[in-house]
Amino acid sequence: MNPDLAGLLTPETVIEVAQTFGTPAYVYDECTLREKCRALLAMPNAFGLHVGFAMKANSSRAVLQIIASEGLGIDASSLNEARRAVSAGIAPKRIMLTTQDVPLGEDRAELERLMSQGMIYNICSKRQLELIAPFAKLATANSVDVKLSMRVSTGVGTGESATRNTGDKYSSFGIALDQLPNITQFARENGVTIRQVHCHIGSGGDPELWRANIDRILAVAEKHFPDATTVNLGGGFKEARMPDETPADIVDLGLTAKAAFEKLAERTGRRLSMAVEPGTYIVANAGHIVTTVLDKKSSGPGGFDFLVLDAGMETSTRPLLYGSRHPFYVVAPTGKLLSNEFQSNVSQLMPQVLVGRCCESGDCQTIDDQGMPVPRTMAAANPGDFIVIGGAGAYCSSMSLTGYNSYRQAPEVLLRLDGKLQLIRKRQTLEQLTQNEQSL
Ligand SMILES: *Cc1c(COP(=O)(O)O)cnc(C)c1O
Repeated sequence: MNPDLAGLLTPETVIEVAQTFGTPAYVYDECTLREKCRALLAMPNAFGLHVGFAMKANSSRAVLQIIASEGLGIDASSLNEARRAVSAGIAPKRIMLTTQDVPLGEDRAELERLMSQGMIYNICSKRQLELIAPFAKLATANSVDVKLSMRVSTGVGTGESATRNTGDKYSSFGIALDQLPNITQFARENGVTIRQVHCHIGSGGDPELWRANIDRILAVAEKHFPDATTVNLGGGFKEARMPDETPADIVDLGLTAKAAFEKLAERTGRRLSMAVEPGTYIVANAGHIVTTVLDKKSSGPGGFDFLVLDAGMETSTRPLLYGSRHPFYVVAPTGKLLSNEFQSNVSQLMPQVLVGRCCESGDCQTIDDQGMPVPRTMAAANPGDFIVIGGAGAYCSSMSLTGYNSYRQAPEVLLRLDGKLQLIRKRQTLEQLTQNEQSL
């Protein structure tokens, strides 16, 4: 098969999705998901590698099940995410919780239950440490092996935008270097052993800064964490969604890490294993959104030609939130591919602006990070044509603005390895959208 879109997705599949499930719909490609998992598990390393999937990128149950079946663990960013991973059938011992939340009350009991079953808790603040220390100490006294990690901020971060940099001084994540002596001393005095040092410096940033951070975090492990056996380098590997983008070279990053871990071992005798936890890199290009062109209009001389799609900011918030670019494919109802931004041999292209149905100028899929529409060159489309938004497997469905303008959450469909389509999440109903409302 020679697919015209990406992965196994073909124009015929797009038509089948639209006819069977309606639009808008998210479509995920099992083949790409599995290939990405395997590429990550093959990353070069010195003394062992653990790969976790940052499930906030895509928390759909079937997606988690595919990724877990490839042998990856899960990085959850809230206790509810951990609960969702467990209900997908993933054992707590394969889950790590890294959260800004401070579990209290009922959540606290659930946290302790999952930790007793092996879930790793990644301590992200002094208060989190203080709250978990008595439980950790008691569990250890009862020979229950609680696994604790600590998220450190080395003070250097990088992201595709300022809002996705989680390592710089203006970011609130992790424990800052100047506080480590005090905090690790508190841990020691309270019988808390930290087995993993963790950092995550941002999403989709410069791979060179990711590389430079390896030595920095290893130095932190060497100086402050004598009991650590694993260093988790976080996620954030850049993926290329657009033809002009370059993905992070994970083999090359792995080789750099391998050399650094080996050097540390030579000097100190400590053979630390490595962990990574990407989200985007695994799912971004495994997902598409199939939309229908509903309308066509122009804002007159000096203005723009607009196509109104049945999916906008409520289905993919990334363009409005970050000015993110996604590739677009135009498919006629006959199944003919009219344009594909990865191929240039298409005639009759014109600059068009893609907007959604929300009453909001920012509801635009072709928008820059200042909120201005930027026309994109693609086939002149008409109502009834389909536009497929590519690179939409990460932070689209999971980040959707459910409820705004009362559009229903779109269904999720999985393109299986045998080419068959399987519904993995139904379209939301209007009753579900309003089910918790109470009349006066
Ligand atoms: C979001 C997140 C990730 C994944 O980031 P990607 O850019 O999607 O790879 C990894 N680790 C932590 C702690 C995160 O919050």
